[in-house]
Amino acid sequence: MKFDMPNCGGCKTCELACSFHHQGDFSFAASSIKIIKKNGEAGYIVELLEEGDAGISCDCCVGEEIPLCLEHCAHSDFLREILEEFFSKRRQIAE
Ligand code: SF4
Ligand code: SF4
Repeated sequence: MKFDMPNCGGCKTCELACSFHHQGDFSFAASSIKIIKKNGEAGYIVELLEEGDAGISCDCCVGEEIPLCLEHCAHSDFLREILEEFFSKRRQIAE
C-alpha cells in the first residue's frame, strides 16, 4: 500500500529500524517499509509491504511498544497518520 509523504526527507532510517524489528540487524532488503523517490515533487512515497508483495510484509510491529519505523522518524506525526490508516485498512481486510 502506497502513501504520499510530502515532508519525508528520504533518510531511510525507518527502513533500517524496520529491518531491526524483523531480524535484529540492519538491512534495507529486510524492511517492510520502502521509501520511493517522486518525480520532482517534494517528499517521498512511503510503501508498506503486504502479504503477496515481494519482501517481508509489515506485521504492525507486533511485540514492540511503538512501531520502530515511527520511533526513529524525524517526521513521526505524519508517519503516524500513515501507519494508522494502513493498520486500519489491514484490520478491515482481516474482518
Ligand atoms: S510498523 Fe511495519 S513497517 Fe513499521 S517498523 Fe514495524 S513492521 Fe516495519
Ligand atoms: S524515517 Fe521518516 S523522514 Fe526518514 S525516510 Fe523514513 S519516513 Fe521519511
